[in-house]
Amino acid sequence: MSSKVVVAIDGPSGSGKSSTSRGAADRLALRYLDTGAMFRAMTWFMLSEGVDVHDREAVAAKADEPEIESGTDPHGPAILVNGEDVAAAIREPEVTNAVSPVSIVPEVRSRLLDLQRSIIGEGGIVVEGRDIGSVVWPQAEVKLYLTANTDARARRRAAEEGGSDVSGVAESLLARDKIDSGRRTAPLTMPAGAVHIDTTPFTLDEVISQVVALATEASGSGT
Ligand code: C5P
Repeated sequence: MSSKVVVAIDGPSGSGKSSTSRGAADRLALRYLDTGAMFRAMTWFMLSEGVDVHDREAVAAKADEPEIESGTDPHGPAILVNGEDVAAAIREPEVTNAVSPVSIVPEVRSRLLDLQRSIIGEGGIVVEGRDIGSVVWPQAEVKLYLTANTDARARRRAAEEGGSDVSGVAESLLARDKIDSGRRTAPLTMPAGAVHIDTTPFTLDEVISQVVALATEASGSGT
């Protein structure tokens, strides 16, 4: 495996992106970057500052303020805001419900884009998000777009969150999809040159194996 390879994995929430990305990074001995965690960290900061997340100007005015540090260990990626560990806090429903409006704001995206590109740097990394293959790193050697049907996505997310309210989770997923796909800057979309995998019928291990095979092939062909 070339240590320089960049594997870009995009798709909606609950498509299996996170587990697949972490598992593939582990098997390929690559670093891992969760860009969703960076948007969540920015959102956590806005909420902790009392910013109205629907006020784009207020969010934009503060987008440069937080120092956000993202670890790249697939076994436990650290995420810190101004030195504070927010790994658990960014998964709380308050943050989940506020993250899409914050992610719309161009000042937020350009701030995080710079951070994301500097972490990707020389490569050797699996990066997951919504706009990695289209905007952040279009030159990635491997680009994947993962989807799953709504029912499967909601069941997976509800299980991850330790809850049983599958229909509530489905509603929240669909609301975020709508904002993420409809926004003007870097919308969720299948990037040019991406391989589409509908993960619904596959086990996690089967999807990871497909990603590992594609990454191995890409680095073997000298790209
Ligand atoms: O992946 P996760 O569900 O944690 O992402 C949370 C939110 O962050 C998404 O719903 C989306 O609004 C935003 N996001 C984004 N661009 C990315 C990654 C995440 O806009 N590259």
